[in-house]
Amino acid sequence: MLITAIFALCGWMLDIQVFKSICKAFPCMKVNTAIGFILLTTAYLSLLYNKKSAKLIRYSNLVPIFYIAIISLVENFLHRNFSADDFFVPFYNIVDLKKQLPQTIPVVASACFLLSSVWIILAGTTSNKAHIAGQYLLHITTLISGSALFGYLYGQSFLSDFGMGIHISLQSTTCFFLFSIIASLLHHKLGITGIFIGNKSGNIMARKLFIRFLLAIIAIGYGEVLIHHSKIILPGLGSTLLTVLLILMALYFIRIVSKQLNTVEEKKDFAYHNLSLGIEAAPYALIIADKDGIIQHVNTETEKLYQYSRHEIVGKSMALLQPDGVDILNGELRATFFEHGNLIRLGNESNQYVQQKNGHRFPAEITFRPFTSMYGPCILMCVLDLTDVKQKELIISEQLQELHYKNNELEQFNYIASHDLQEPLRTVTNYISLLSEDYPEIIGGSGIADHLAVMSSATERMSTLIRSLLDFGRLGRNRKLSPVNCLTVINDVRADLKNLINNSSASIMVDTPMPELYGYETELRQLFQNLLNNAIKFRKHDMNPLINIGCVKTDNSYNFYISDNGIGIESKYFEDIFNIFQRIHPISTYEGYGVGLANCKKVAEMHGGKIWVESTPGEGSTFWFSILHLKMYDEVFQVA
Ligand code: ADP
Repeated sequence: MLITAIFALCGWMLDIQVFKSICKAFPCMKVNTAIGFILLTTAYLSLLYNKKSAKLIRYSNLVPIFYIAIISLVENFLHRNFSADDFFVPFYNIVDLKKQLPQTIPVVASACFLLSSVWIILAGTTSNKAHIAGQYLLHITTLISGSALFGYLYGQSFLSDFGMGIHISLQSTTCFFLFSIIASLLHHKLGITGIFIGNKSGNIMARKLFIRFLLAIIAIGYGEVLIHHSKIILPGLGSTLLTVLLILMALYFIRIVSKQLNTVEEKKDFAYHNLSLGIEAAPYALIIADKDGIIQHVNTETEKLYQYSRHEIVGKSMALLQPDGVDILNGELRATFFEHGNLIRLGNESNQYVQQKNGHRFPAEITFRPFTSMYGPCILMCVLDLTDVKQKELIISEQLQELHYKNNELEQFNYIASHDLQEPLRTVTNYISLLSEDYPEIIGGSGIADHLAVMSSATERMSTLIRSLLDFGRLGRNRKLSPVNCLTVINDVRADLKNLINNSSASIMVDTPMPELYGYETELRQLFQNLLNNAIKFRKHDMNPLINIGCVKTDNSYNFYISDNGIGIESKYFEDIFNIFQRIHPISTYEGYGVGLANCKKVAEMHGGKIWVESTPGEGSTFWFSILHLKMYDEVFQVA
C-alpha cells in the first residue's frame, strides 16, 4: 500500500503516467488517496506498539483521513466542490500540482478509508466486542473494494464509481482489497476469515472450495460478458448455457464436499472404533460420566471390578461406585476440575475405597480427568484395584517392624553380652595380679610367671575384642545429619595421624576436588581414618607409602577412593575382609583386630552406599566407598 502510494506521488510529481495508473485507459490514483494510504499505513503500524507516542501518531494520522474522506463523500453525493482537495495544499504548492485539480477522492475510496480508519480505532481498544465489530468493517471493505475489482474485470464501470462520476483507480481498489483481507486474516479468530485458517477438515475444505469456486465464477462471469458483448449467441441460448454451466459447477462442488465429508466420517468411525477397543482392552476400570456425574459408558473391567453389569450402572450416579469418596462435583474442586481442566489423582496415599455391588469395599487408586465430548464437558474416571498392593505393603511393613525389633534385640544382646563379659574378665585380670603380688616366692622361678603373663595378655586381648564389639554395636547410634566438608575431614584425619604419617614417611595426595555433602560427620571421619590407617599399616617394608585420595561424582552418589602402594590383597579375600574380626595376616606381622573395615562398611551403608576393594597382591589396593546424594538418600531412607 505504502509503496503503491509513493509510486503514485512520484508519478504525479515527475509526470510518469505508469506510476499514476497502470493502464492509460484507467483512472489514476489521486494525490489525496496516495497521501491517505501513507497516513493509513502509518496508523496501522502504530497498532504494533503500545506506547503513548504510538497512540498519538495513530490518532493524528486518522483525523485528516476522516476529514478528507467525509468531505469527499459529501462532495461526491452533492456534486459540489468544497475544495477538500486543497487539504494537502502545501504539498500541492510545492509540487505545483494545482493544475491537476480536482483531486476529489472517489466515493469507493472514501468509504474504504472511513471503514479502515474506524477498524484501526476499534482494533486499538481492549474490548472484544469492538474487535469483532472492526472485523466486520474489514469484511465490508473487502466487499466494496472487491466489487470495484470485479467491475474492472468485467468492464462494469458503475462498480468503481457507484454512478458518482469519479472512479477509483485499479491500484487503490487492489490496495484496499489486499489490506482488508490481510488485516482480517491477522485476527482470523473473530470474523469470517476464521473458516479459512486451521487444519480442521472444515478449514481445509473451505480453502479448497473457495479458491476453485472463485476461479470458476470469475471464468463463467467473464465468459458471459464476452458472449454478451460479441453477440455471437442469442441471449436465450446464452442464459441456458450459463444455467447448464452453473449446474455442472454445483455438481462438481457437491462431489468435492460429499467426498470430504465421507472421508471425515470414515476417519471418525475408525477413531471411535479404536477408542472403544482401547477402552475395552484397558487393564483398569474406565468410566465415562457427564458433567453431573451420571455414568454414560463403562468397560468390561468395570463390570469385573464392581460386579455390576453394564446396564445396572449406566445412567446412575458415580457416587454409586464410590459412596464416601472425594466429591469432585461440588465446590472449589468442581471449578478447578472443569474450568482449568485439572486432573485429580487420588493415589495410594489418599486411602480411597470403592464399593462393589455386594457392599464389599476395597482400596483403589482413582483418577478423574475432564474432557469435552460433543455433548459437552465429561469426566473420565479410571479406577485401579489396590487390594494386592495394600496387602503387600502390609506384609512389608510387618516384616520391617519385625526386622526393627530383631535389630533392637541384637543391639541389646550385643551391649549386654559385651558389657557383662567385661566383668568376669576384670576379675580374672585382678586375680592374676593378686597371684603375682601375694605369692612372689612360689611364682618366681617356677615357670608359673610365664603362664600368668600369657594369661594376662590373652585376657587383655579379649577385653579389647569385647570393647571393639561394643563400639561396633554403638557406631552411629547418636548420628547427626549435617553438611560435611570432605576436604576438612581429610585434613583433620591427617592431623590426627601426623605421627604415623611422619614415622612411615607416607605421602598423601588429594587428586580431585572434594565435595561438601550431607552426611554423618563423626562416622565419616572414622571411615577416612580407618582406611588411611590401613593404607599406611599394610605398606611394603622397602617402600614409603604413597596414598591417593579422590572422589568421582555419579548421578546417584559420590564415589570416594583411597589407593595405596602397599602389600595388596588376594581377590579371594575381597568380601571377607569387611566382616567383623576377619583378618588375613597374623597379629604378629600386622597388628589389629579386624574391626576397622567392618566399621567402614557400616558407615557407608548408613549413607545408603557400599564399600568395595580393587587390589593386586604386591602392587597395592584401592578401597572405594559410595555416599548417596541426599535426594536419593531421602528416597531410600525417608530422612526428613
Ligand atoms: P585390621 O586392620 O585391624 O586388621 P581391618 O578390618 O581394618 O582390620 O582390615 C581387615 C583386613 O583387611 C586386614 O587384616 C588386612 O589383611 C586387610 N587390609 C585392610 N586394608 C588393607 C590395605 N590397605 N592393604 C592390604 N590389606 C588390607
